[in-house]
Amino acid sequence: MKEMMTNTPDEVIERSRKVAVDITSVKKAISKSTGQTMLAFNMKGRAITDKEFYDLTIVFYVNKKSEGEKEITFEQVDQWAPTWVRCSCPYFQFFVEYVLDRNGSTVLRKNVTDNKPPKIRNPEEIPYVCKHLYKALPMALAAAKKVK
Ligand SMILES: [Zn+2]
Repeated sequence: MKEMMTNTPDEVIERSRKVAVDITSVKKAISKSTGQTMLAFNMKGRAITDKEFYDLTIVFYVNKKSEGEKEITFEQVDQWAPTWVRCSCPYFQFFVEYVLDRNGSTVLRKNVTDNKPPKIRNPEEIPYVCKHLYKALPMALAAAKKVK
């Protein structure tokens, strides 16, 4: 999460100030492939200037502190936690989805993205997030810390 936030351009951060997001659901699950506990947030967000609400997903991955630990607590989740993201907005699709997929931080949506590098919009292939996720990530992190 830290890297995606730090890399986000100033103009996107500026626009994120006009975004409102709400958490619509929170789910806890264990990853079958890695054994990590996952905490998934579904959210809705829009800026004042957006015509519609966009769907956001944020997943934090948490390792057990020790082998003997039975129950994962999310208090230890911080901005360094491995994080998976998705937003249904066009900016996410055209500027960062391909790059975040390469980085393991999202998965390209079939039939939505044309699976090509964003040569014009993000030629250096920097992993960052759209204004909706920029607003939503710290909110999800704060909420994660309170999940039992
Ligand atoms: Zn977005």
